[in-house]
Amino acid sequence: MTHMQHYTPRELPTALAGLAELALDLRWSWNHTSDKLWRTIDPELWETTGNPWLIMEIASHQRLQELATDRAFLAELQQQLANRQDSLSENTWFDALPNAADLKRVAYFSMEFGLSEALPIYSGGLGILAGDMLKTASDLGVPMVGVGLLYQQGYFRQVLDADGRQLAYFPYNNPAMLPVLPLRDANGEWLHVDLELPGRILRLRCWEVTVGRIRLLLLDANGMSNHPRDRGITGELYGGDNETRLQQELILGIGGWRMLEALGLPAQVCHLNEGHAAFAVLERAAGLMRTQNLDFDTALRATRAGNLFTTHTPVAPAFDRFPPALIQQYLAPFAERWGVDLKAILALGREHPDHADEPFNMAWLALRGSGAANGVSRLHGVVSRALFAPLFARWPLPDIPVGHVTNGVHMPSWDSAAADALWTQACGKARWNGEMAHIEQGIAALSDATLWDFRARQRQRLVDAVRRRHAHQAAGRGEDPARTDVLNALFDPNTLTLGFARRFTGYKRTNLLLAQPERLLRLLGDPQRPVQLVLAGKAHPRDLEGQEMLRQWAAFIARADLPPGRLVFVEDYDMSVAAELVQGVDVWINTPRRPFEASGTSGMKVLINGGINLSELDGWWAEAYAPEVGWALGDGAEHGADPSWDAAEADALYRLLETAVVPEFYARDETGLPRRWIARVRESMARLTPVYSTNRMLREYVEHYYLPRAQALDARLADQAAAAHELQQWAHRIRTHWPALRIGPRSDAPDTDGVAFDVQIYLDDLPPDDVAVQLYAEPPAPDAAPERHALLRGEPLPGAINAFHYHLRLDTTRPASDYTVRVVPNHPLASVPLEEASILWPA
Ligand SMILES: *Cc1c(COP(=O)(O)O)cnc(C)c1O
Repeated sequence: MTHMQHYTPRELPTALAGLAELALDLRWSWNHTSDKLWRTIDPELWETTGNPWLIMEIASHQRLQELATDRAFLAELQQQLANRQDSLSENTWFDALPNAADLKRVAYFSMEFGLSEALPIYSGGLGILAGDMLKTASDLGVPMVGVGLLYQQGYFRQVLDADGRQLAYFPYNNPAMLPVLPLRDANGEWLHVDLELPGRILRLRCWEVTVGRIRLLLLDANGMSNHPRDRGITGELYGGDNETRLQQELILGIGGWRMLEALGLPAQVCHLNEGHAAFAVLERAAGLMRTQNLDFDTALRATRAGNLFTTHTPVAPAFDRFPPALIQQYLAPFAERWGVDLKAILALGREHPDHADEPFNMAWLALRGSGAANGVSRLHGVVSRALFAPLFARWPLPDIPVGHVTNGVHMPSWDSAAADALWTQACGKARWNGEMAHIEQGIAALSDATLWDFRARQRQRLVDAVRRRHAHQAAGRGEDPARTDVLNALFDPNTLTLGFARRFTGYKRTNLLLAQPERLLRLLGDPQRPVQLVLAGKAHPRDLEGQEMLRQWAAFIARADLPPGRLVFVEDYDMSVAAELVQGVDVWINTPRRPFEASGTSGMKVLINGGINLSELDGWWAEAYAPEVGWALGDGAEHGADPSWDAAEADALYRLLETAVVPEFYARDETGLPRRWIARVRESMARLTPVYSTNRMLREYVEHYYLPRAQALDARLADQAAAAHELQQWAHRIRTHWPALRIGPRSDAPDTDGVAFDVQIYLDDLPPDDVAVQLYAEPPAPDAAPERHALLRGEPLPGAINAFHYHLRLDTTRPASDYTVRVVPNHPLASVPLEEASILWPA
């Protein structure tokens, strides 16, 4: 295999060998101490790409020879290598956790990872979240390994033609030009993982990416030995048809789990970032079947305790679904290899397990294969409980077992150099690596003048970036790059700067600002208090509505009466564009239709940089908003796609800009400072930055999910999976006897401050401890929790077999009729109703 040579770093002069170590660690995407090395090698390439790996790979032989004898450079290189080693051996937040030893490894599966534009294997929010997750795991010392796909082309690159039509390009990702290395086995041979596709074996190559302390392992199908048709399976991200998508998900879930096993890296906790990776739960269970000689159900019962499913979907049609014939064709070879009945596997992806014509739903599989599930904001938790309710018939919504962990962003990846300096001065160097209690005081201590000066420098850098990008775009369209007069008139560093960048698609209402074009023109063109607006965003190549919205913006930009230099569309929204925008804008606008923005994260990226959010009360903003920290759109309710509501919200958006945002920005005191604006910046930075950081997010995952999952898994696996066997028997008893359970007569005895309840329950042949008898009362207010109280088993009912009185004396001001008796499954090791959804209410 001679081509393997091709995928190792280039031959470097011995004195520079350490460069490869630095270039391969994507820590450079958030820790900028080594920037000066790369700038020294090639200043121009550094400015345009910011990609150390690329700089190292394409620097001329002569330049490297020069540097190999440059004492200052060599000293700096040694210094950076020492820094890196120090950072790897520092004590971390995780090390200090009392029960850290219970969690040995989390495998984080995701279809996309957005770590840096230098590794373009992401499309948008889901991938950025995954990238930020790995970076934070490195900071906090959480033992995590990422699992994903190495796309040969990734997501499309965007160019707009002269008429505003979006052109989609797929430049080839040459692995040799990416900061990845092939994984090798103990003998130094290229590691591969085999996957059974219908009638053939697909051989997957394995790659690794270093992210500080963390490894990201990637699979791809483009090996020479595969059928030409198969080599493109991992070509595009979110391209191709349903079948390609299914193949990719099999590679991710099943191939990914096999890769971990082949490397001897079995994970205790398998975290599924969205349902795409759900096949991992099957391969994981199958592995335990083999090693412990279990049946499939018991193996899944044991292993699911270690799986966590994070759902990102706001509407049921967005769940990944596969037609029955297709899924059957593709899962049959696996079922055969695992020795599992194909029907049993297919049933896991259906709402009604015996409906053979129901599509296979990846979210159902993920939920049925996991020990816990969560949405990505408080509101999305509520939305998700409704989406998953069909799997829990007759359970009230608050009982549907989907919690929430609100997303965050990895602050060190999104702050500017100036923000980093300011925050270091205010809150110290280690501010994102542990407790964050001191942050509010640190920011409170900064003077108004300091903050305002900081904002001006942030805005100035954005103006420079916008001019540079605009010149580049114009040149790409063949326009004369020498029209510097136009460029210099483009944007102004003292003008209120609004930013709007996101995927162009219907629910994000990316054209809401265009609802009344004359009003937008007036805002931009105000001679006293002007506004400038920077836009960016791609529409998926199959999203025609999104592309139409792009065209509407292009038409607006082409208007002859548009005030010159105040509106720019930046092409090819990616992480580097996003970073420039979120660092420089004064106000970040977001206009989704509630509740379609599960969380949203781009608005969190402006917090650390002193930008302010103006957003619909959806996703994270629905819980973050307070009048002191930003502006809100909408009434906190859902209105569907009602055009009159859209129009009303557009009107409200203009009104906010005209009467609140613009006046506050331009209201200067005698020293030239906008005091109220600065106060808002300060509140937003101090209060929201810590909360919407991945530092807070990952710590929540560790404490509420990873540790409990790891402990539950170990409990189920102990003694040849004794607990899993016991739970199987319990579940079997529940299903056998449930239809014969009966709630008998109930008597309530109200007194002055409560009610004494008594109810007769007939348990058929179920051991009484297998169930819990509860009083349930609807929440007293929409935002409150429902009441659930366990009734205590009392004396047997005379003349009946296995039937009892259950009682409880409850202090309550509510009438007895608010309370309903219900019987639910109960086992100290089980998660109910996630694992057993039987429930009995009075007839
Ligand atoms: C942060 C980010 C996103 C996510 O943005 P939302 O619109 O908040 O979902 C998408 N794309 C890029 C390039 C980003 O940096």
